[in-house]
Amino acid sequence: MSPFNILVVYPHPADSATEASGTVALHAGRGDNVTSVVLTHGERHHMQWLADQKALPEHKRDPDLKTMTLETYRDFKAREAERIADVLGVNELILLGWTDHEIYFDLDKAHELADVIRKVAPDIVITHFPVDNGPSINDHPTSGRIVMKALEIVGNRVGEFDGVDSYHGVKQVFFSFAGGEEANSNNFLMPGIVPDVWVDTTSVIHKKVQAMDQLTSQGYEGETARWIAEARDGRWGMIAGCAYAEPFLRPHATTYDSLPMPSRVVGKEYEPTVLHSGRGSARNTASATPPEAYKLRP
Ligand SMILES: [Zn+2]
Repeated sequence: MSPFNILVVYPHPADSATEASGTVALHAGRGDNVTSVVLTHGERHHMQWLADQKALPEHKRDPDLKTMTLETYRDFKAREAERIADVLGVNELILLGWTDHEIYFDLDKAHELADVIRKVAPDIVITHFPVDNGPSINDHPTSGRIVMKALEIVGNRVGEFDGVDSYHGVKQVFFSFAGGEEANSNNFLMPGIVPDVWVDTTSVIHKKVQAMDQLTSQGYEGETARWIAEARDGRWGMIAGCAYAEPFLRPHATTYDSLPMPSRVVGKEYEPTVLHSGRGSARNTASATPPEAYKLRP
């Protein structure tokens, strides 16, 4: 089926840099087509740039701060999302402009996303793990649930009375994690949600770091991006047996023609200790934050 047509759906620009972005960069790099849908502009998320600006004496602040509106700030966030897509090699970025922190499970949103799925016609969909995991139902699992409902909708159209035919081209959904929803293990017998697919992102970890470098609005650039990559993606890598990794869970178990023995399993050799050497370092990634990333207006 390769090249694949991959649709990635997240609620905020930051998720497009911090969740499955290494995997996105890997697939984009091998010629797969990637469409990134970002549901909101993340306009109320981790307002670090704004806090930093307000901590400055007035004469040192961005001169455009005085006239900042919701629209100016959303444009600032849209440019972050565009730079992230560029760094990762995403072919098309679609911003749906929903309201940040106010994504509720409703049929209009599911239909809007169903239209996008029909238009993109993906083979693979990546979205956030859709199970609610806390006292408030936040944007992330809700987005995953809306994606699943949208897939149900596109699969159940009847041309004669809906005006569109059903679409059944999505062969696989992969749920990604922000870190914290999943069990800290790759042992299926551990209690909790154990991811069933791990992607080795070591070769592209610099792209993930540089994608996070674009998120100046949230203060993710620089040291924080490297901390996230080393502490979280590095921990995922330690679990997965490589330097850096991203975990996924598929909604259903997979049927094979015979017992699955991928090359990583067949080629596995005994190591007394899994040593961290020659595996690269996210920490040493050169900064990719352009000077304009700190400016409210282009
Ligand atoms: Zn988010």
